[in-house]
Amino acid sequence: MTATMATILNGNKVAAQIRSEVAEQVRALTAAGRRPGLAVILAGEDHASEIYVRSKIKACQEVGIHSEKITTPASLTTQELLAMVERLNQRDDIDGILVQLPLPPQVDSQQVLLAVDPEKDVDGFHPVNVGKLATQRPTLAPCTPAGVMEILLRNHIAIAGRHAVVVGRSQVVGRPMALLLLNHDATVTICHSKTIGLAEITRQADILIVAVGCAGLVTENWVKPGATVIDVGINRVTDRTKFEDLFAGDAAREKTFAEKGSVVAGDVHPRVAEVAGALTPVPGGVGPLTIAMLMENTVKACRMRRGRR
Ligand code: NDP
Repeated sequence: MTATMATILNGNKVAAQIRSEVAEQVRALTAAGRRPGLAVILAGEDHASEIYVRSKIKACQEVGIHSEKITTPASLTTQELLAMVERLNQRDDIDGILVQLPLPPQVDSQQVLLAVDPEKDVDGFHPVNVGKLATQRPTLAPCTPAGVMEILLRNHIAIAGRHAVVVGRSQVVGRPMALLLLNHDATVTICHSKTIGLAEITRQADILIVAVGCAGLVTENWVKPGATVIDVGINRVTDRTKFEDLFAGDAAREKTFAEKGSVVAGDVHPRVAEVAGALTPVPGGVGPLTIAMLMENTVKACRMRRGRR
């Protein structure tokens, strides 16, 4: 430990602020007879999906959003799921439709995601919303990168004119992240698995966002001193050697590893805290923002669609 350790950007704190603001807006909308509603479709019996959906429903209950969980047998067809989405598209009391991925293999996921009314696409995955984000029109942005923006903005981290490097180019995180940063006037570089000289590029970042899915990929020599580092990665480490490399001497994690045989790690090596100016932890960094932004998107969708009348 040195005196120059990075400021830890507490995602739980930012998420709690957002949830309380959302709850306030939900109260006002409900009083005006427009209680926001979210429908979550859970197809089949994927254990991880069940846990995510449960957390989303619980978050709705906490902020006062009406929520519906629609479960279907794993054997359902694309046509059956499309019919379900269409019924939700038609309902005025449902503002957000979330189709939990992955869908069973026989279902055409792309067709289903395209069927969601873009005005109710609270995940922000529909090409119409991706296009709006790319052309700086009001839209529903994907929750995880939108949450990263909230962490940056609410911690007063300067973005305009700064060099932001995004590692990862997925539709869910990397690409929309780069667009959001660009829309906030950052100078943006996007890196991916084919990038040559990755560490040279990340070392130029004032803001480094890592969304790869590789535990401890970014080490301290990849980071410019004083940079803001946002670690989106959520990885389960089960290998003892990897665990030692990342967390040797960390008593709390040592205990978890001994009890459960695994720990959660980000894409950024913990030693980066000795170089960075600010850093999000894993867990407790970006993770809590994703559901908070889903709540915010549901309220936004309600205002954008029903507010017009
Ligand atoms: P994807 O697997 O869809 O995308 C990973 C991206 O990383 C790809 O663009 C890939 O490049 C790139 N990549 C892979 N290996 C390397 C490498 N060695 N060097 C540089 N780039 C590389 O993952 P997601 O975007 O969905 O998720 C990324 C991480 O974020 C995961 O750990 C995931 O669990 C986590 N996550 C966390 C969320 C949260 O709530 N905090 C929400 C969503 C995701 P290419 O395109 O060339 O293949």
